[in-house]
Amino acid sequence: EGDICKIKPELKRSFQFENKLLPSTWIVIRIDGCHFHKFSEVHNFVKPNDTRALNLMNSCAMAVVEAFNDIVFAYGMSDEYSFILKKDSQLYGRRPSEVVSVITSFFTSLYVMKWKEFFFLTKLEFSPYFDGRAICYPSNKILLDYLTWRQIDCKINDMYNTCFSVLVKSGGCLNGTLTQDKKPGMTKTEAHKYLKGTQTREKIKLLKRFGIDYSKLPLMFRLGSSVFWDEERTTNKMKGVLEMSDKKVVVDYINIIDKTLWNEHPHILM
Ligand code: ATP
Ligand code: ATP
Ligand code: MG
Ligand code: MG
Ligand code: MG
Repeated sequence: EGDICKIKPELKRSFQFENKLLPSTWIVIRIDGCHFHKFSEVHNFVKPNDTRALNLMNSCAMAVVEAFNDIVFAYGMSDEYSFILKKDSQLYGRRPSEVVSVITSFFTSLYVMKWKEFFFLTKLEFSPYFDGRAICYPSNKILLDYLTWRQIDCKINDMYNTCFSVLVKSGGCLNGTLTQDKKPGMTKTEAHKYLKGTQTREKIKLLKRFGIDYSKLPLMFRLGSSVFWDEERTTNKMKGVLEMSDKKVVVDYINIIDKTLWNEHPHILM
């Protein structure tokens, strides 16, 4: 007993070194579902895009944004979400292990809590879990480059997955819009080989051949989901003016690469 008391302060000093996220920089916490390829198969996600699963992710992200005042914006697609904390955030003294673990575990528990709301009778067969990481971005420009990278990734992956679903014979392809007889019926390996090295233009053409206009597919699939605080705009009919009500957390499927959003919502990146 006496020995333990002697080494305790020593242990604290030498091993618990204080690692902090760079001050005055945007903090991005990105979480990503672990083994969601398997998770989505076990739970019969509709391929390439299961709307229930995306809405569940968005609902969890909205609750996270509501719970942490310092989060000013969130962007998500597939099984991932990026949460942006304001530059001067002092959440957990900017200690990365605490910031990352708290956001990741809260998101995970929300995912389980809300599962039934989106999947009804589909039983949750095993515990989903997410990994999380923190990255600092020193300027608005570099932060916007990060978001551009994620949205381009969303588009590229979605286009690839959409083509892949059209080419393979198994599974309800394209959320059931394509009839079985139109499918070329490739194996998964054949489809990957077929798509290898194809450019965007070729993929758009390929989809056209199967009667799919890529630009008409849901914005949520093509642009991903953005979550942020927004004012509700309502028209006061008596006075005939536009009024702003209290801010609330919204989800929208918008282009975050061009400047429109950031110009319309200058408060987000202040
Ligand atoms: P890791 O543990 O390395 O992240 P992973 O299996 O989760 O591996 P990801 O690259 O993160 O791989 O990809 C997530 C996968 O989850 C997608 O490829 C897709 O198969 C599936 N998935 C996620 N969300 C959806 C969705 N809404 N609809 C259909 N499939 C989805
Ligand atoms: P923080 O968010 O800073 O961790 P906290 O409220 O979780 O704040 P802790 O110092 O972690 O504070 O202490 C956990 C508290 O949770 C305990 O003080 C106690 O009140 C309660 N608690 C946890 N486990 C039990 C338990 N098994 N039985 C009764 N109370 C418990
Ligand atoms: Mg991962
Ligand atoms: Mg994953
Ligand atoms: Mg992923």
